[in-house]
Amino acid sequence: MLMDLDYLQALMGGTLAETPADSYRDIWVIAETRQSRLAQVTRELLGRARELADLLGVHVATVLIGHNTSGLAGEAVAHGSDVVYILDDALLADYRTETYVKPLASLIEEKKPEIVIMGATARGRDLAPRLATRLKTGLISECVALDVDETERLLLGTRPTYGGMLLTTVACPKARPQMATALPGCFHALPPDHNREGTVEDIAVSVTEADIVGRFEPTQAAQPKMSVTDAPVIVAGGRGIAGSEGFTQLEELAMLLGGTVAASHSAVEFGWAPREHMVDITANHVHPDLYIAVGISGAFPHRMATRGTRCLVAINTDARAPIFRQADYGIIGDWREVIPELIHAVKEAKTQ
Ligand SMILES: Cc1cc2nc3c(=O)[nH]c(=O)nc-3n(C[C@H](O)[C@H](O)[C@H](O)COP(=O)(O)OP(=O)(O)OC[C@H]3O[C@@H](n4cnc5c(N)ncnc54)[C@H](O)[C@@H]3O)c2cc1C
Repeated sequence: MLMDLDYLQALMGGTLAETPADSYRDIWVIAETRQSRLAQVTRELLGRARELADLLGVHVATVLIGHNTSGLAGEAVAHGSDVVYILDDALLADYRTETYVKPLASLIEEKKPEIVIMGATARGRDLAPRLATRLKTGLISECVALDVDETERLLLGTRPTYGGMLLTTVACPKARPQMATALPGCFHALPPDHNREGTVEDIAVSVTEADIVGRFEPTQAAQPKMSVTDAPVIVAGGRGIAGSEGFTQLEELAMLLGGTVAASHSAVEFGWAPREHMVDITANHVHPDLYIAVGISGAFPHRMATRGTRCLVAINTDARAPIFRQADYGIIGDWREVIPELIHAVKEAKTQ
């Protein structure tokens, strides 16, 4: 199904700015950083942006907005960017909607990128719609695939609808830039090429204290955990775990295997695991070497989000559960018996 954002907006009584598309060029990725590196989702988006830019014959630009992030320009170029715009200011050190939207909107209005993409992360989900509204353009949110119609120079964003039961491809034919957010784990980052060359441009930023409406109070920093989209090993629990206590055991196994714990949509909805751990078509898409699905039935939205797994092990009491059709190895049994045995076996193997 192809949806036209201009048509939808007209139905709702609003209008998108109709702009001469010819004056817009290049694909931009609004970067996020994690622990002094480009976030994995940014590297993935750069990889896809590079492929799409080559189809359209345009450049890829990365926007590094924050404080003291200019050192990441080389990483952005190595991952496929031709140009890096640096917006640096001490007031941009912490993400705040108002201080980020203003300079980004000004830069986009000045440079006129054809396509602007960012991760459908907590920050991207807040920033992208505000930016799109400011620019009077459409936003294709939470895409799992990004393509282009080379003839019409249209961005085609495919996104799950009706809780992931239907995939819809959406385009924004008239307004520019065309904007999209994409879910983490949907694209592959290119292997870094440190011989690539790109240009770096410092952009003057004019945010002031007066632009800041909300303020953060510093609290005890949480120990950063491995994100589910980066983890080589994932131990994921579903509704069959029947409570948050069981996740402590899954976490122990995950730690022993050098990985992280994750959860199905249901387990997160029940409050047994945090939302950033969710593996689902509408959340994180994962590509681990090993994925142990515990008490997870293998419903379609979960299957789609784990397609990139190299080896899937399923533990389930129901021999007819669909997860066994997807699994490389299956254990029919109660996790309460299987997981302690696995923990014991891994500990023993580690001492040998
Ligand atoms: C509140 C809520 C909101 C939702 N919203 C959405 C949505 O927006 N979009 C969407 O796509 N989906 C949604 N879903 C559905 C959800 O995505 C799927 O149902 C989910 O992926 C399936 O989760 P699951 O496999 O953990 O649970 P289930 O499908 O219930 O599977 C549980 C599995 O655990 C096994 N099991 C039970 N006990 C044990 C045991 N002791 N040991 C081992 N195995 C055991 C069972 O045999 C079963 O196969 C929602 C669900 C809920 C509850």
